[in-house]
Amino acid sequence: MNEGSVCVLGSINMDLVVRTPRLPEAGETILGGPFLTSPGGKGANQAVAAARMGTAVAMIGCVGADAYGAQMCDVLAGEGVDVSNIRQRADAATGVALITVDDAHGENTIVVAGGANLILEPADVIGARAAIETADVLLMQLEIPVETVAHGIGIARGAGVRILLNAAPAAKLPDDLLAGADVLIVNRGEATLLAGADVKDDPAEIAARLAATGAAAVVITLGAEGALLCDGSGVRRIPTAKVEPVDTVGAGDAFAGALAAALARGAELDEAVRLASAAGALATTRRGAIPSLPRAGEVERLAATIGE
Ligand code: ADP
Repeated sequence: MNEGSVCVLGSINMDLVVRTPRLPEAGETILGGPFLTSPGGKGANQAVAAARMGTAVAMIGCVGADAYGAQMCDVLAGEGVDVSNIRQRADAATGVALITVDDAHGENTIVVAGGANLILEPADVIGARAAIETADVLLMQLEIPVETVAHGIGIARGAGVRILLNAAPAAKLPDDLLAGADVLIVNRGEATLLAGADVKDDPAEIAARLAATGAAAVVITLGAEGALLCDGSGVRRIPTAKVEPVDTVGAGDAFAGALAAALARGAELDEAVRLASAAGALATTRRGAIPSLPRAGEVERLAATIGE
């Protein structure tokens, strides 16, 4: 199998994390545990997730001309990600995510202040088009402006590059954008909102409804229940590995990055989802976003146990 290459067009944040005994109610103040900063942003996380699977990765993004921005570029470069298309802009702060992690249950809440990610413009994508055109897969999320994502889709489509859209965080999207994705990746909440469905609806029906909007394949991630895959061959559930989760931050990003890497290396979609599930499962066994992202060898070993 060749190494394959992934271009990630997306967000770069510094995560500001505090652990708590439980999540606070609205209007409530509780005393948390230790505070830490950790590199993050769905784009950056997924770029590292793909790179750790052994795939060449280039990232298109935007940070502020500040300490967090410089640190994020260093982290990405240290992971082997090509950072030559990450702009540093003096007129915005590097994005931050304020993350609260419930120590007892491994659940989390996240508020993102997008900063420089929100001024990643179509012109930046056009300027970096070679990075998209030379990749096997373009991977995007929704922490950057939607028109920037649309430009990425246009360039990738013109060059025959496979388009993966992780529609996260949850948002309603125009059908033509969904139709531009070769693989749409969503968790249950995102899928429900995107399809205008009810939380009680069967995820298989939601997947079919999303596929009907034009995405060639839809993957709905279902946490410990694995993932649903819907494409021209119908809907099927792909189980995940059995693990003891300690922190679910990063599971979705590990999944999306590993899926992109596997597809870039030529894997079939079902096999790529199996590998991605193992990557997501491993990410839940460790704390943090980027620190929790697994490497190819352990992902392949765990994937081999799925369904045993
Ligand atoms: P998100 O973090 O975006 O909400 P999920 O919770 O659905 O996404 O997790 C993404 C993927 O990670 C799942 O499809 C699954 O393969 C894996 N995963 C997540 N939680 C677990 C778990 N508790 N056990 C095993 N695999 C998990």
